[in-house]
Amino acid sequence: MNFELAEEHRMLADLVQRFVRDHLMPLEPAVLAREAAGEDSELTAEERAGLDAVSRDMGLWSLDAPEEVGGLGMPHVALVAVNEALGSTVAKYVLPPDSPNLAMLAATCTPEQREAYLAPYARGETVSAIGISEPGAGADPAGMRTRAVRADDGSGDWIINGRKIWITRAAEADFTILMAITDPVKGSRGGMSAFLVDRDTPGFNVLRRIPMVGGEYTYEVALEDCRVPGWKLLGTEGNGFGPMQVRLGTRRMEMAAWCIGAAQRALDMMTDYAPQRVTFGEKLSQRQTVQWWAADAAIAIHATRLMAYDCAWKLDQGRDVRTEISMLKVQATEMASRIIDNAMQCFGAMGMTKEMPLALMAGRVRTMRIYDGPSEVHRMVVARNLMDTRA
Ligand SMILES: Cc1cc2nc3c(=O)[nH]c(=O)nc-3n(C[C@H](O)[C@H](O)[C@H](O)COP(=O)(O)OP(=O)(O)OC[C@H]3O[C@@H](n4cnc5c(N)ncnc54)[C@H](O)[C@@H]3O)c2cc1C
Repeated sequence: MNFELAEEHRMLADLVQRFVRDHLMPLEPAVLAREAAGEDSELTAEERAGLDAVSRDMGLWSLDAPEEVGGLGMPHVALVAVNEALGSTVAKYVLPPDSPNLAMLAATCTPEQREAYLAPYARGETVSAIGISEPGAGADPAGMRTRAVRADDGSGDWIINGRKIWITRAAEADFTILMAITDPVKGSRGGMSAFLVDRDTPGFNVLRRIPMVGGEYTYEVALEDCRVPGWKLLGTEGNGFGPMQVRLGTRRMEMAAWCIGAAQRALDMMTDYAPQRVTFGEKLSQRQTVQWWAADAAIAIHATRLMAYDCAWKLDQGRDVRTEISMLKVQATEMASRIIDNAMQCFGAMGMTKEMPLALMAGRVRTMRIYDGPSEVHRMVVARNLMDTRA
């Protein structure tokens, strides 16, 4: 067994670390100032445009896009270090294009959809969203009510009605991959389909922007007789659940790496600070509590990183990683929450300020224990694969 990254993947990691150090970290003070002022802590359009120009010049676009649409076809193992670096800063930036929907499109596209959606998306020319969650169905998407039916005029179009909530980027995305029930009897087992819905489609109505913890925003969307041409059904009718899991798996991998990056940053901040601060005549670094925070953090980060590489490697081999990915999501998100919280404690009142990145990092990581499946549901999946839990 060889734990070394391939040379080209190590070089990619170095390049992204440089990009983060030279271009994202300098934006952190502005991000934190906006957050402290109660403003939007996401990068501004101007900041993003500048970063896009630099990252494109550095050859950091389309890293995992298929080669046949101009991408570099990088495997999951190469992306762990990339996302770890990106997760280490609160200047939140995604190298175009966002990977999860890319994976879902690549797994399902028809030749026509490839030209119209996958290729421009892979080139970073468009932005997309995913619409799964509903007011009555989140952790359990099988409870989904949004319904797509064939128009009765013989056009082959689909008419979609329903409601989606917590949809990231719904208002800004050029298109949303929208999940809907096409056969209520079969439901998620053969009756759930995916549709490509363009932002300006009549009946795709963004109702409100919802501020979330950690400077995030999501949207609520009403589908009101939203007519979608027949060719925009993604994959085959009734078989949307599998490709949706491919997408969620890609995001969970990314999320784990972001969490490792955030936890490592918190640990680095703590180990820089603890030797400098003296209380009751001793440095904080001489207190066993602080030493154990640091040691436990280093152990947990190391273990989580190995889990992430194991899962990424298995994904690249085409193996079934349902158990591993659930274990990884729970481990990474809870580990990062714990380590960031200990770092905040170590900094005392300074750790409670919005002048440091820790509070924003804590909020971001906190949302990750909910989206793409709450921790409890992932534990349920792991337990179900260990024993018969139906009785
Ligand atoms: C920042 C953010 C961004 C998001 N972006 C998107 C997006 O882009 N697209 C999208 O479709 N959705 C998105 N979501 C929604 C997210 O995927 C759902 O919130 C998540 O799946 C949980 O669904 P829910 O909120 O309805 O919680 P519920 O399903 O109501 O669950 C509530 C709680 O009940 C507990 N629970 C549920 N089931 C079980 C179980 N089996 N065993 C034990 N406990 C259980 C858990 O603690 C869970 O947190 C986003 C959410 C957040 C926070």
